[in-house]
Amino acid sequence: MDTPTPLASIRSYHAHIYFEGAEEHRRAEMLREWIGRRFPVRLGRWHERPVGPHALPMYQVAFAVEVFPLLVPWLMLNRLGLTVLIHPNTGNARRDHLTQALWLGKILEILHPLSLPEADDGSLTLELEPNTFPDSLA
Ligand code: ZN
Repeated sequence: MDTPTPLASIRSYHAHIYFEGAEEHRRAEMLREWIGRRFPVRLGRWHERPVGPHALPMYQVAFAVEVFPLLVPWLMLNRLGLTVLIHPNTGNARRDHLTQALWLGKILEILHPLSLPEADDGSLTLELEPNTFPDSLA
């Protein structure tokens, strides 16, 4: 704790877009389409029920470090009232979710925090390849 954590420890980011009920689901669909058209990200599958540490249904948006200054301010303006968790991926999933995250909207509980690994489990490099092909930025 007597030296700061270096920025280089952030290998990528996730944004988790939460929704609850049919109306928020529709907004989440619209937001997903907007993101996919604008940003080179990896859009994860829909989780219609809470999964892992996430207290509400959601989908994940995985993105590279250089996309952060484009996507995150855009989400500030365009999250459609939905709650968004943005966390770094440093290899310590517990810290990334519990103390190194930022929230847009409400702060939700992180479930089962002790089940989040504190060391790299090797999954970080697999999910970075974008699966979206944006036609414009902003
Ligand atoms: Zn995540």
